[in-house]
Amino acid sequence: MNFRSDLPEPRRNFLATLGTITLWPKALQAAQKTAGRMHFIVISDTHIGRRDNDQAERQWRKTAAELKETPGDFILHLGDVVDGGRAEHYPIYRRIRDGIGKPVHEIPGNHDPGALFEKHLEKPTDRSFVHGGIRFILLNNAHSDSHDGFITEKQLAWLDAQCRKAQAGSQFIIFCLHVPVHANKHPDRGWYVKPQHGQKAFYEICARHRDRVIATFHGHFHNGIRGWDDHGSLHEIIFPSALYNLNRRLEEQKAPGYNLNEFRPGYTLIALEGRKMMLKYKPVEAKATAEKQFDLPAKS
Ligand SMILES: [Zn+2]
Repeated sequence: MNFRSDLPEPRRNFLATLGTITLWPKALQAAQKTAGRMHFIVISDTHIGRRDNDQAERQWRKTAAELKETPGDFILHLGDVVDGGRAEHYPIYRRIRDGIGKPVHEIPGNHDPGALFEKHLEKPTDRSFVHGGIRFILLNNAHSDSHDGFITEKQLAWLDAQCRKAQAGSQFIIFCLHVPVHANKHPDRGWYVKPQHGQKAFYEICARHRDRVIATFHGHFHNGIRGWDDHGSLHEIIFPSALYNLNRRLEEQKAPGYNLNEFRPGYTLIALEGRKMMLKYKPVEAKATAEKQFDLPAKS
């Protein structure tokens, strides 16, 4: 993918006329250093063991075979690794995942009991890593007895500390949480982090760090790529399930936000270059069809 032609006019002029990075405005320098050119992959909701048959396992095997051949520095898995939280399905997921040959960073969903997730995948569940100048902050906001999301006081304090670390390191931030924070209602699912469960405080943290928070990434909806960008420069994005997605006809029904017109099982290719982020929906065993492009915030 080449984004050079997508660069805004002033930026191209800088490249053409000045020709040297040291003369760029500070924010552009930081953004360039940060994003450079980077590719990663997002998957979600593999639901191994769904309906007590091996269909999810077979689909995951096909997906993993493609992921092995797909360029990308790492993979994010946004939760619901298994279906119904049964221990025997984690080793099945894990064996296939380990054949991909790339780092895979999972967060738990409402189908993943915390103890099993930590035993078979990663410990602790709330953690972060930095890649290409972006701090990926991974948080478990799912409960197995609810479809809503929950962010505790303790988690909020940890998130805030993580944001301060990003600030100290001059990093961008992407938050990964299974359940979206953004309010939504019919014809949407209506599942999110309610104001009293941490939503208000979470948005306050995002606002304090608005110059470096790029996006929140979520799974949970099985609804293709669905998102909102009505909180300043924050992009709140739900990613497709690798197993099944439903077309809820949100755009037809004028639901706020966007919903790309692709619902086959798949994953999302993400490219960052300069101040652009590009999402490409890749259905398994089919050509990529739907794309969306964003601008990153101008970091101070
Ligand atoms: Zn879920």
